[in-house]
Amino acid sequence: MNDLKNKNPCIICVAITGSVPTKENNPNIPITVNEQIESTQEAFEAGASIVHCHVRNDDGSVSSDPIKFKNLQDGITKFCPGMIIQFSTGGRSGIGKERGHMLSSSPDMASLTVGSNNFPNRVYENSPELINWLSSEMLKYNITPEIEAFDLSHIFQASKLFKEFKLKGKPYIQFVMGVKNAMPVDRKVFEFYIETVKRLMPSANWCAAGIGKYQKIINEWSIELGGHTRTGMEDNIRISKNQLASSNAELVLLTKQICSAYERPVASWKEARKILNIPLKIDN
Ligand code: MG
Repeated sequence: MNDLKNKNPCIICVAITGSVPTKENNPNIPITVNEQIESTQEAFEAGASIVHCHVRNDDGSVSSDPIKFKNLQDGITKFCPGMIIQFSTGGRSGIGKERGHMLSSSPDMASLTVGSNNFPNRVYENSPELINWLSSEMLKYNITPEIEAFDLSHIFQASKLFKEFKLKGKPYIQFVMGVKNAMPVDRKVFEFYIETVKRLMPSANWCAAGIGKYQKIINEWSIELGGHTRTGMEDNIRISKNQLASSNAELVLLTKQICSAYERPVASWKEARKILNIPLKIDN
């Protein structure tokens, strides 16, 4: 893999909030919709072109409220024109179909996990029935999926869904590594993931996210091997071992430094939309 000339633009996704970190963990994590819009704008100006969104109640508890998602979408569209907005359909923010009711506001992208695995303290359950329903909602509202692969089988399952036309758009596969009790951070597996995506879905793009202390190493591997990458306080609240991140933008700037070390330009939102084949939606 080291012989690749990977000087293509790198898309940086910022996962601003997630469902887990709290203000007690890091007071700089954006929780309210206004804080999220402000944090996204800083990250956008720092170089992120995709924002991965969860919403919270004002007390910090998890929410899947479609109105909050819509307000966040409207604010980001206004203050970060062109940025690709991705809603999470992840399993920590709601139960069953609650995880997809906000898809009706037609974001550019939504995350989709296509199989089950373990999380640190629970099973991350994604039944075939729920996956089929979330996929059909994404088709209905013209949403490009980002497949979150927590396991090798998820890459095979994604390929099957695209072949059966249950998902459409250019496949975009994210490898998630370093979640306790799921796939560890392992370079050989990482390279095999890339090889498998290329074999099963030659037109696909790929990116990767590392959790906690593994964020930076996964950023490095992704950038080195020609993929795209994710940062942000959903996955990691620290800028270094002993220092909390001051903002999502600070993590984006760190990722940008890695890009320049590997001579990868950072994709603008226009380049990111072209790479992922996601035109601007006129009316959201
Ligand atoms: Mg998420």
